Amino acid sequence: MPIWIAVAAMAWMAAGMEAAYRRDFTGALMRVDYFHTGTASKERFSLDRIRVEGPWAGNPRRLLDSTGLGKYRFRLTDPESGRVLFSRGFSSIYGEWETTEEARQEMWRTFPEAVCFPEPRRIVRLELHKRDRQQAFQPVWKLLIDPRSNEVDRSPTTSGNETTLMRNGPSSQKVDLLFLGDGYPEEAGFKRDAERLAEALFRVEPFASRRADFNVTGLFTPAEAAGVSRPTAGVVRNSPLGASYDALGLRRYILTTDDRAWRDAAASAPSDFVVILVNEEEYGGGGIFNLYAAVAADSPYSSHLLVHEFGHLFAGLGDEYYTSTVVYLDLVAPGVEPWEPNITALLDPARLKWGHLVQEGTPLPTPWDKQGHELRSRSNGENSEAGPTVREKEPHAGIVGAFEGASYTPTGLYRPARTCIMFSRKEPEFCPVCREAIEKMIDFHVK
Ligand SMILES: [Zn+2]
Repeated sequence: MPIWIAVAAMAWMAAGMEAAYRRDFTGALMRVDYFHTGTASKERFSLDRIRVEGPWAGNPRRLLDSTGLGKYRFRLTDPESGRVLFSRGFSSIYGEWETTEEARQEMWRTFPEAVCFPEPRRIVRLELHKRDRQQAFQPVWKLLIDPRSNEVDRSPTTSGNETTLMRNGPSSQKVDLLFLGDGYPEEAGFKRDAERLAEALFRVEPFASRRADFNVTGLFTPAEAAGVSRPTAGVVRNSPLGASYDALGLRRYILTTDDRAWRDAAASAPSDFVVILVNEEEYGGGGIFNLYAAVAADSPYSSHLLVHEFGHLFAGLGDEYYTSTVVYLDLVAPGVEPWEPNITALLDPARLKWGHLVQEGTPLPTPWDKQGHELRSRSNGENSEAGPTVREKEPHAGIVGAFEGASYTPTGLYRPARTCIMFSRKEPEFCPVCREAIEKMIDFHVK
């Protein structure tokens, strides 16, 4: 097809999508809060609240999720015709927790969650889907939503203390990042950290070259005391967003399970992605696809942590490391291809999902000094190698292949490169596969 026809066809499709957006949606953001309850084998969903907030910050030309990422996805359908009006993939804390020993012991727990989407003009059906052991999406919950019901909470959002850190255009055409702070008594300290860490993100490719596709806002929520909860250190704080170390029993894992708290705090500014800066020095962070990223802002590794956790949040990247202690039990079933764009089970090397980035003649699996890495990890602690050093020593260290050891699993799962920001905290760059996954996600939000 001549290029001008392809360009015209794309413009025509984009115009069609924008018309569909105006026909089916009001332009505001609707948020459905619900409780996700269960054990490793049982799962229940129950409605908490439906709310309408400020403008929806998403891309009206991309109503349907074409990325295929996430352990869960939701859809809005027209109950009469069954037509899908909107869809998004996401992951959740529950989705990680259900793989732990506690969940296996049939201990019931509840995690508050929410899905957000443009407010529909008419009655819609909300459907939640979850991947089964073979990674196929199966329905797990559905709910009819009548936007005209008087149960829909339309109370105004409390206005926050906003600072524009970077503005490149309207929200509907940009990726809107919102930095929140937890455990900050003073706004000045939060602003300094937000400015410094936003800059750290845009120093790394592909964010550096795509800087103009982003808006960044900071939103300050005052805390009574400095810092957040660190249960293993005996510190418990009632911080405004509820962030805490020791999430899922891992000292360096920072999450908040107070879903309402951070979403209510975020509601006054338009955002596609929320980063929670935690006013702490101890190494730690967390990031879940399409939920949020949390980072200890004063750790000596805060820049690396921010970029790494943002990779989880923004592009659904999986952890490429495998030598650190985690609590997940068989996250991926043997013989099944993981959905993460940078992890493969290499079931069929001829159809490797990043095969287009592999040079002809590269051995698959790709040899590397696995034993040496494992020895060094045991003696120096986790993630202790930098790309420049390994690139000098190992012949395949600079190329894309399939390197065994990824996603907390030493055998049977493979990562695209010897090292990457998703592999080592000393590595300053994303591997080419992660870079491409991030570029695709930026395109999804702006094109
Ligand atoms: Zn990578």
